[in-house]
Amino acid sequence: MRYLIGNWKMNPESDEKAVELARSVEQGVAGIEKVTTIVVPPYPFLGAVHAVLDRTLLGAQDVFWEESGAYTGEVSAHELREVGVRYVIIGHSERRAMGESNVVVNKKLRAVLEEELIAVLCVGESKEIRVKGTTAAQAFVKQQLEDSMKGIKNWKSGIEDNVIIAYEPVWAIGTGEEDDPQDAATMTRFIKQLLVTNYGLRVAVLYGGSTDAANVAGYIETGIIDGVLVGGVSLKADEFIAMARNIERAREVEK
Ligand code: PEP
Repeated sequence: MRYLIGNWKMNPESDEKAVELARSVEQGVAGIEKVTTIVVPPYPFLGAVHAVLDRTLLGAQDVFWEESGAYTGEVSAHELREVGVRYVIIGHSERRAMGESNVVVNKKLRAVLEEELIAVLCVGESKEIRVKGTTAAQAFVKQQLEDSMKGIKNWKSGIEDNVIIAYEPVWAIGTGEEDDPQDAATMTRFIKQLLVTNYGLRVAVLYGGSTDAANVAGYIETGIIDGVLVGGVSLKADEFIAMARNIERAREVEK
């Protein structure tokens, strides 16, 4: 299966606009079979958006790790499930920039797995690290993954289908400077190998960072990248739908 995940971030500005966008996506992806399309609105719009979705699935942008109680402003994995959420983004670089550590990401991952939701765990290096070369970038991503996935190895139930990794080099997010598909493929291969070696997990790995309808096929055609996590373009229904179509049509040329 290939994935297209649209992270709406703190957009749009009203519940009507959120529903309108969700409706357009839902209609636009009709007939697209090979792509799991997921929209990820802000918390206040989750319920209204869920009500107009059918083949499109619902995601959340964050989660809190406790089950319930006196945690003002936080939302639990169970509460997310109650409003129809199936996918939860964890450790997005914009949250990490606000101080979210790998320790916190690990707690959130465990909460999502406990609730049997699907975690979209984001990792990725900064420009400062990337310019040092592939080895430095891989070492950074390895550390992020190992710290974020602590304690997952002997998890009680099978979690292969409940973890997706999104490789999002920080310097490529929202900048228009996307990673070269072959470089993203090299990192994806590294991540997949690491997860098999460390945890015995064969998981989907997505790329994220300035993807659009024009460049998305290049990532899928590497034959190793399983889809994309999209920010900016996910707010433009027509282009987002075109991305879904281009992902479906992309022919894998290299394994
Ligand atoms: C993101 O925020 O995860 C992202 C990939 O954003 P954009 O597509 O705008 O680069």
